[in-house]
Amino acid sequence: VKGYLSRIEKYAHLNVFNEVFADEALTLAKAVDARIKEGTAGKLAGMVIGIKDNICYKGHKVTASSKILTGFTSIYSSTVVERLLAEDAIIIGRCNCDEFAMGASNESSYFGPVKNFADNTRVAGGSSGGSAVAVQADMCLAAIGTDTGGSVRQPAAFCGAIGLKPTYGRISRHGIIAYGSSFDQVGPITKSVEDAALLYSVMAGPDAYDSTLYQQPVEEVKVTPDSSKKRIAYLQEAISSPGVDEEVKTSLINAIEKLRAEGHTVEPIAFEYINYIVPTYYILATAEASSNLSRFDGVHYGYRSPNATDLVSTYKRSRSEGFGKEVKRRIMLGTFVLSSGYYDAYYAKAQKVRRLIQDKTKEILAEYDFLMVPTAPEPAYEIGKGEADPVKSYLADIFTVQASLAGVPAISLPAGNNSKGLPLGLQLLAKHFAEKELLNFSEYFL
Ligand code: GLN
Repeated sequence: VKGYLSRIEKYAHLNVFNEVFADEALTLAKAVDARIKEGTAGKLAGMVIGIKDNICYKGHKVTASSKILTGFTSIYSSTVVERLLAEDAIIIGRCNCDEFAMGASNESSYFGPVKNFADNTRVAGGSSGGSAVAVQADMCLAAIGTDTGGSVRQPAAFCGAIGLKPTYGRISRHGIIAYGSSFDQVGPITKSVEDAALLYSVMAGPDAYDSTLYQQPVEEVKVTPDSSKKRIAYLQEAISSPGVDEEVKTSLINAIEKLRAEGHTVEPIAFEYINYIVPTYYILATAEASSNLSRFDGVHYGYRSPNATDLVSTYKRSRSEGFGKEVKRRIMLGTFVLSSGYYDAYYAKAQKVRRLIQDKTKEILAEYDFLMVPTAPEPAYEIGKGEADPVKSYLADIFTVQASLAGVPAISLPAGNNSKGLPLGLQLLAKHFAEKELLNFSEYFL
């Protein structure tokens, strides 16, 4: 803990943590040390982890990196925090993120962007940018993020780490500040597949507080490299599209060739709904967000405008002053697609397209063990670029939101650095609930 605390201090300018629980982590460490001596320590004893600041931890502040949650303290812990602590993990602090997890660059945070450790002028990725840099810069051993449309996988890719988004329904959303409830999943960001598997195994499984969970108990994944020959599909568009960075393409091509040379079957596929992936995601995610964020009314949680004069102005002013630009944009988008007169044209239509995308993805994964795509079309870009062009940044979610729409598990694995020393990521998608196969093959893949 002391070692990590000194790294946190040394690299404070990266803006990774919204709060560090220094004293508490040291106290916890002492207690865990004692349990290790007694032989009663849990599976995560000695694991120092950061949690994204949208995960509730009883008695601790939680902000979702938004002004609107100023002063709010969690009155209960999320199921994931309870399970991590029960196995003796040491939580070292709350990690910066995009405001309400909306973004892919950590630039929408009320507390400012997180800087990439590989190049401080570049973004960390997002929305779990703080969690990813915390791992990249050795400020903790592992970190927990949330992934609605890529927020664990894409920052992991930008920071040379491993990011796992489990199947929708694997990990409890109880105590996670909701963004898009039909997409949100918690996931680990780590440096090794073993750590990802361990954290996943501890956090996953049924929970009475989340009725969307798969009810079967989850067996602990003990990573065993799988050297059997696989059938892998890759998206042809990832190589043919002019929107994908040349070095990203090369890293995908290299992976394909390596796998083929080792006897795996790797085949291109065309995904006929590719142009609908991003619009479908942004219609549904913003619709859900506009509903989820209606609870922040200046009365129940956090910030209340001092300029309010009555109930309606309390709502209006608290929300106008408390939410940032990107969050407001999404609330308006979501409210629009849900409004009468537009509901059928946008929201209902997007639900139908989601089903088509899900069916087609399942069809591919019935024929192949894995679907391989880059995690992002380009590596970490300069700070300022993401905010400047929101539509462009939405489009850059093209490779991560497919797994989110389909609900299947996906992992981003480090794929070396480009010529500028920036990390690249490669993503594997697997069948629903095939986390074990996905993790085992990831190990082999590295
Ligand atoms: N970039 C996507 C979005 O802004 C995904 C964010 C996330 O997974 N939380 O919605």
